Amino acid sequence: MMRVGLAMLQGARHEHEEAILSIAKEFQQNIEVVHLRRAEDLDASIHGLVLPGGESTTMRIASRSEGLLDSIYAWMETYPNRPVLGTCAGAILLAMPSDGRQPFIQAKISRNAWGRQRQSFEAPIDVTLNRVEMQGASIERKPDVFGHTPLVVGDVDARIGDDAFPGVFIRAPRFDSDGITCEVIARFGDEIVGVRDGSKCAVTFHPELTNDRRFHAWLLNEITALSPTD
Ligand code: GLN
Repeated sequence: MMRVGLAMLQGARHEHEEAILSIAKEFQQNIEVVHLRRAEDLDASIHGLVLPGGESTTMRIASRSEGLLDSIYAWMETYPNRPVLGTCAGAILLAMPSDGRQPFIQAKISRNAWGRQRQSFEAPIDVTLNRVEMQGASIERKPDVFGHTPLVVGDVDARIGDDAFPGVFIRAPRFDSDGITCEVIARFGDEIVGVRDGSKCAVTFHPELTNDRRFHAWLLNEITALSPTD
């Protein structure tokens, strides 16, 4: 059984969970999504992580009482090959862990650099992760235990064709192209909006708010490829 840890700090957590479970179903993999709330929730049995978006300062403060963020960073240092997907604020947390830790991705990032909340936008972007064939499978959008039905903002196939990815940018951070020494995996025109540094993938947009599962598929594929010593 593969176990994916989902940091319950803030943001579209339920949409991430739904995305992971639906792609696991596509891949016919048995996946458990583990909700991470306290430091103790994170241990060797977690194979990969999702750090959702939100507001990174709030996430840092909110995690202090339970020590969650610190244990997430410690887990990443202990298991450097295990994959982590950081979206939006999650990308900020990977690039700027603060409290003296080394960055987990070699990329400089600036917070809120597209402007204010109302300058949030949606645009097709180019990604170089493999497209996952959805094979016409319908995506189930059942309410979760809180009665929340996962939100879908982008409807990729209907609107922007096969290869582009629906980029949903919500008060997004911005990578500094001069400060990137890892692999670029997503671009919006000339702008770098996604990077991969080994087992860490950081994007400034919200793939969980779309029906396109490429990034969650990447996470599951990386977990499948782990060796027992990883
Ligand atoms: N503006 C947020 C921050 O700086 C990130 C926005 C998001 O995750 N949607 O933390």
